[in-house]
Amino acid sequence: MSDSKPHAVLIPYPVQGHINPLIKLAKLLHLRGFHITFVNTEYNHKRLLKSRGPNAFVGFTDFTFEAIPDGLPSNEGDGDGDVSQDIYALCESIRKNFLQPFRELISRLNDSATSGLVPPVTCIIADNSMSFTIQAGEELSIPVVFFSPANACTFWTGFHLLTLFDKGVIPLKDESYLTNGYLDTKVDCIQGLQNFRLKDLPGYIRITDPNDCIVQFTIEAAGRAHRASAFIFNTSNELEKDVMNVLSSTFPNICAIGPLSSLLSQSPQNHLASLSTNLWKEDTKCLDWLESKEPKSVVYVNFGSMTVMTAEKLLEFAWGLANSKQPFLWIIRPDLVIGGSVVLSSEFVNEISDRGLIASWCPQEQVLNHPSIGGFLTHCGWNSTTESICAGVPMLCWPFFADQPANCRYICNEWEIGMEIDTNVKRDEVEKLVNELMVGEKGKKMRQKAIELKKKAEEDTRPGGCSYMNLDKVINEVLLKQN
Ligand code: UDP
Repeated sequence: MSDSKPHAVLIPYPVQGHINPLIKLAKLLHLRGFHITFVNTEYNHKRLLKSRGPNAFVGFTDFTFEAIPDGLPSNEGDGDGDVSQDIYALCESIRKNFLQPFRELISRLNDSATSGLVPPVTCIIADNSMSFTIQAGEELSIPVVFFSPANACTFWTGFHLLTLFDKGVIPLKDESYLTNGYLDTKVDCIQGLQNFRLKDLPGYIRITDPNDCIVQFTIEAAGRAHRASAFIFNTSNELEKDVMNVLSSTFPNICAIGPLSSLLSQSPQNHLASLSTNLWKEDTKCLDWLESKEPKSVVYVNFGSMTVMTAEKLLEFAWGLANSKQPFLWIIRPDLVIGGSVVLSSEFVNEISDRGLIASWCPQEQVLNHPSIGGFLTHCGWNSTTESICAGVPMLCWPFFADQPANCRYICNEWEIGMEIDTNVKRDEVEKLVNELMVGEKGKKMRQKAIELKKKAEEDTRPGGCSYMNLDKVINEVLLKQN
């Protein structure tokens, strides 16, 4: 064990869409010579061991995993399923219960360092939602870098929540404001968000209760942003030019280092390539199935790790896909349908025959980069969005919550690489848009633009590119700086 290595402790917000990009950053830092400690919750650690096998994290030199409790009573089981956890309870628990075990973990790592077992902790890289880490860093004189796994627009909106309150934009007067057209109002008090409507902003602003837990959590986290030694985003100046411009004039140490998918795929591969943090067991048979399909002929359908829908909506998607007659690969998580498991009729199964394949979780980036994939029907999570861009695949958007409405706006209006499906989804619309995307003129133009955006992402993340240089700068000027 080298004692001269810098030692980065990384901690994600404990859900799939936050763990994945942070593990990418951890791999990139490991390739640059860092000793890595990656901190999961005990609940997620158990799930990872279950989905990846008991030796999932064994044998990676200078790359170790630690776990701290999440303080949620319901998570004392064996970590089976329960994808969404309770985000509200999680936010409460992070505020109340995480600082102490995190502090103890750092102390324990530094005790081990005195015996030469690991290098002393030299920096903390925390998901910006895990803002309590700033206190641990300040107490122990360790620099803390915040990392946003979501788009920059989401943080920027969080930073303006108090302005939105002051101007009376939120809270909504009552629930009727969700449907009476109010959300179509243009947002004019957040610089950098040109032409955004309220409905395009992160879903958490649609509150009627000013004390809403997630809003308060976000205000607290945004208020701590100035105390971080640097703030890095899994985005690029190309993707979010306007927001990144205003952000970097407000925060001196803010920069874009993404898309990380592209940054990592252009890095020299090593033994960490096999290190995956999927909380569900991957079904890789779908990759064999894709081999049997024509280039760019398959619609890939996946709503990510947290979206849920009613059985009625699932059927609208199912029959829309079947009626489009296009081949499709559909990932249906066991808990995708609210209040029950998925039941698709034998009529549907007969109809799709070998044209459609349904699986329960897949290695998404491998799927998106498979030559048979021609389009992606997505819930617009930021990872799914950027992974699709890095694969040059156009999208059909059905945003669900959090930053997804903003991502959908970017995809459809700013980058013009996708089309939106109405929230109240109907099979005829799905059929029409799937065909437009896969074989229509619009789809062709969107595919072309998606490929251009992929090339720009590659330019930004190769040596000399903007995101590449930004990461270099953060490493040299913050992470490697001696205290
Ligand atoms: N993912 C995957 N296989 C699946 C579904 C999702 O590997 O079947 C990964 C996907 O590649 C992405 C993450 O899970 O990295 C989902 O993150 P995203 O931000 O797209 O959505 P969220 O799950 O947070 O809503």
